[in-house]
Amino acid sequence: MNHKILVVEDSRAYRNYLCQQLTSLGCDVVDCENYQETKQALDKHGNFHFAVLDYCLPDAQDGEVIDLVLNHEQKVIVLTGTFNEQTREHFIAKGVVDYILKDSMASVSYLLPLAKRLINNIHHHALVVDDSQTVRRHVTQLLEHQYIKTTQVENGEEALKVLNESNDITFVITDHDMPIKDGITMTREIRQIFDKNTMGILGLSGSDDSTMTARFLKAGANDFLHKPFNQEEFYCRVHQLLDMKEATDNLYRMANQDALTGLWNRRFLFNQACSGCEKRSIAMLDIDHFKKVNDTYGHDGGDSALVTLANILKIYFPDDVVVRFGGEEFCIQSCAETDEFLTRLEKMRQRVEKTSIKHNEQQIDVTISIGVCTSEGSLEEQIKRADDRLYIAKEAGRNQLVSDG
Ligand code: GH3
Ligand code: MG
Ligand code: MG
Repeated sequence: MNHKILVVEDSRAYRNYLCQQLTSLGCDVVDCENYQETKQALDKHGNFHFAVLDYCLPDAQDGEVIDLVLNHEQKVIVLTGTFNEQTREHFIAKGVVDYILKDSMASVSYLLPLAKRLINNIHHHALVVDDSQTVRRHVTQLLEHQYIKTTQVENGEEALKVLNESNDITFVITDHDMPIKDGITMTREIRQIFDKNTMGILGLSGSDDSTMTARFLKAGANDFLHKPFNQEEFYCRVHQLLDMKEATDNLYRMANQDALTGLWNRRFLFNQACSGCEKRSIAMLDIDHFKKVNDTYGHDGGDSALVTLANILKIYFPDDVVVRFGGEEFCIQSCAETDEFLTRLEKMRQRVEKTSIKHNEQQIDVTISIGVCTSEGSLEEQIKRADDRLYIAKEAGRNQLVSDG
């Protein structure tokens, strides 16, 4: 679902430019050129992910539109042609997300990353660690104001417990002086499990100990902020932390995912080889006579078949590691019971056989052959054994499963 954004700006050129830029981020933009139109848009659309508002409009020259939209409990980014420190303080205090000087088209290059941030923030979950309820509440409010989900705990010990149990915390904001376990000790312990790219840590402390920053950073914190802090600086630090995490996550995906199908690639399989569970099975799959598919329907048709097969695999093996091993060859690593895995593979094979892939008004039908290794061995040995069974399946007439079990 696209995010709905409200843009209010009386200059048509600037408005169009803003709309075009925000649309390119995948947003649905509702645009208004004055106060009256904005009123109607709020009544009609209800909620927006955020609103970008011009301070001065022909029918509301003193920021009235900002109060209007804030009163509708919407997140507001103010754009203004004239910088006035007092007005800025006034609206920041009222809870606008940001206050941007509209001095040139270049101000859009500040607005866009902020917009992207507000959109991506819904994927983040902060663990707020502080023994002071007042600080926890303040930090939590700031984060939730920008769509970041939060969980609060009172000390380092509780934080480690939550991190062990939850799998969607993306970063930690922590105080130092706390009973039971302090922030620096906790940071050191978190770093034994998560590196800086996987779990960002922002240290906060009111202590006037001049070595505090260095100690936090050396223990593995990504950044540090003194309490009490300026709200805008707080957001800048958090944004930087999240930008870095997203960039590293993207790099990881690019290095480990197959671009056509979105499945994991071979590199991922060899890096993530399961070792924890008692039993690991490997299945190797290959599309039958795929060259003929390409010859008949073109390379595009072949690609559609690969994507469809990948989607079927994702549905049938949501808990296993599904890899595009090469060209039209796939590999599944599973820790399920042997019988269950074999049954599921067979059902999936039949599903592929029954599926007609639509491509340019044509129907492409494909079948697959599967070789399975259920006996123990190194990953390489298991892949080799599964591959040998796959060869047997091909020789025996294709469209079938051969297992060593
Ligand atoms: P078999 O039943 O023995 O597996 O026959 P086959 O034709 O499927 O096997 P072969 O390995 O000879 O051919 C695989 C073909 O897959 C050759 C190659 O052009 C095609 N291929 C590999 N990667 C891609 C891809 O990303 N897209 C498309 N469309 N074709 C691909
Ligand atoms: Mg104006
Ligand atoms: Mg093939």
